[in-house]
Amino acid sequence: MRLTVIGCSGSAPGPDSPASCYLVEHDGYRLLLDLGSGAFGTLQQVVSPGDVDAVFLSHLHADHCLDVAPFVVWHRYSGQASRDRVPLYAPVGADRRLRLAYDAADGPIDDVFETFAIGPGEWELGPFHVATARTAHPVECHAVRLTAGGRSLVYTGDTGVCAAVVDLARGADVLLAEAAYPDVPDLPPDLHLTGREAGEHARDAGVGRLLLTHVPPWVDPAGQLADAAAVFPATELVQPLGVYTV
Ligand SMILES: [Zn+2]
Ligand SMILES: [Zn+2]
Repeated sequence: MRLTVIGCSGSAPGPDSPASCYLVEHDGYRLLLDLGSGAFGTLQQVVSPGDVDAVFLSHLHADHCLDVAPFVVWHRYSGQASRDRVPLYAPVGADRRLRLAYDAADGPIDDVFETFAIGPGEWELGPFHVATARTAHPVECHAVRLTAGGRSLVYTGDTGVCAAVVDLARGADVLLAEAAYPDVPDLPPDLHLTGREAGEHARDAGVGRLLLTHVPPWVDPAGQLADAAAVFPATELVQPLGVYTV
């Protein structure tokens, strides 16, 4: 399995990276995890949008879903869309919400996407076995575990401290975890992880490697990495356009 970071800036695009978007490839199948603000431009450095086989949206915050709008534009007007409809896995209501993001007057986006509402569960998608778990976040958000070729990758989406995410990540080869919160007092619960908490999730789940992501532009990434690595040494901070073999 190969993971390419299209965007890893937390909560908003940053000067050096779009917001959340990850391309996961196996056996020629291309799955996008999230399509956050700014990601569609950078995506085209890596893959033609017409070659994306499926899209998974962890949740419907803007920094995880808004570049579905240019994805729709490309598929409608480029003349290069090579397939029928792209499967879109997302929380209930995504089609309505994304339609509004594109153009409320322009009708549904079901010419581009075949939408599947997700919940906690498991299914097969191309070469991947997919399993999800509800995270601790103010809106419905699902962490996802992808297994293929005997390897497994877990992406937290956005989450506060969450036992279900630890369970989902149990024994995974790679945990791609958000670490949006700096280590300061009085953080609201059930929203984001600190670097230390991301490290604790990796340690408690017994994963092989922790990849830190979703650090906002206003938070020092080196501090997030140091806090996570103090708990779980096999930690790395992802980089835009970084490629990781799972
Ligand atoms: Zn986010
Ligand atoms: Zn969020």
